[in-house]
Amino acid sequence: MTDEALGWEVVARDGEARAGLLRTRRGVIETPVFMPVGTLGSVKGVRFEELEAEDLDARIILGNTYHLWLRPGADVVRACGGLHRFTGWRRALLTDSGGFQVFSLSHMRKLSEEGVEFRSHTDGRLCFLSPEVSMETQAALGSDIVMAFDECPPGKAAHEAARASLELTARWARRSRSRFDELQREGADAGREESNTRQSIFGIVQGATHLDLRRESLERTVEVGFDGYAIGGLSVGEEKSVMYDVVEHVAPLMPAGRPRYLMGVGTPEDLVESVARGVDMFDCVIPTRNGRNGQAFTSRGRLNVKNARWTADTRPLDETCACAVCRRHSRAYVRHLYMTGEMLGAVLLSHHNLAFFLDTMRCVRQSIRSGEFTRFRREFLEGINSGVG
Ligand SMILES: [Zn+2]
Repeated sequence: MTDEALGWEVVARDGEARAGLLRTRRGVIETPVFMPVGTLGSVKGVRFEELEAEDLDARIILGNTYHLWLRPGADVVRACGGLHRFTGWRRALLTDSGGFQVFSLSHMRKLSEEGVEFRSHTDGRLCFLSPEVSMETQAALGSDIVMAFDECPPGKAAHEAARASLELTARWARRSRSRFDELQREGADAGREESNTRQSIFGIVQGATHLDLRRESLERTVEVGFDGYAIGGLSVGEEKSVMYDVVEHVAPLMPAGRPRYLMGVGTPEDLVESVARGVDMFDCVIPTRNGRNGQAFTSRGRLNVKNARWTADTRPLDETCACAVCRRHSRAYVRHLYMTGEMLGAVLLSHHNLAFFLDTMRCVRQSIRSGEFTRFRREFLEGINSGVG
């Protein structure tokens, strides 16, 4: 059953870095891949036509189960035929489990073996999320890749607390898998079409920054058996070198015959450094979030449009970027829009930032395939550290 839902093939390697093909039921995705985040069923400020256009060409985006479960609610999305039909996005969709948001956004959490009780961050009502509820919600959303429900301990969790958390996550992984399989048998997957296979499901490795616990969590997750494996619980406030250490230690131990996904990471530098350590998939809100805050990611580092030095600068945000924004608009214009509160300012910055992230991954894939990843990595890091002129 596992093999029909998600195809995975490594087509080239360069050190630990892998270039692969991920065959989902809604299209083939070249990896390493960056997945733009569509929190509430929208990648903030970017239309689907633009995500599909050549300069972005996003093959897969993410939806947040927690947010969609609260608003508009799983029943509404199911009644509208699943998240693809509800939103009009036709390419692949991955949904997270809701766990991370419950642990980072909600108030008054009460954690038990059964699940987690909390108050919604939007209206304060009492909610309960468990592995079963998460699987049922993700079936109603009908995403192509479902994530197992995990507990996310704080990044700096002490050994004992991190162990208890990973034990719970391991039990929840089993419950997630078992409810997921039932739902597929029952035909509850709203995204299923006649020509399609079932949803696929990824397990999540926890263990905070403790390498022995990460190893143990990985073994126990693989024991349950998933279509792919993710590293969760990083980029939550730990030192960057600690995150790289965990990834360097865990990724190569993850099953080579399955895709590896580093959740919620990160900056362009983080992506390239994590690919070098064996990761295939990423997601992060920073291209759009930082765009809304006036920041552009460029091949020479970050550019803040609030800086007065760009007031009459007729160059594009990034002189080497071929995106629709850089082909047409100047720094001066984007700055003007941003400074006057025109919504187009955030839209253009979000578009360019996504183009930069997606194009960086395109270059990463090409360099792995041509055996030049080491050189690409060095030049890319030199570039983004050189400073915007
Ligand atoms: Zn651009």
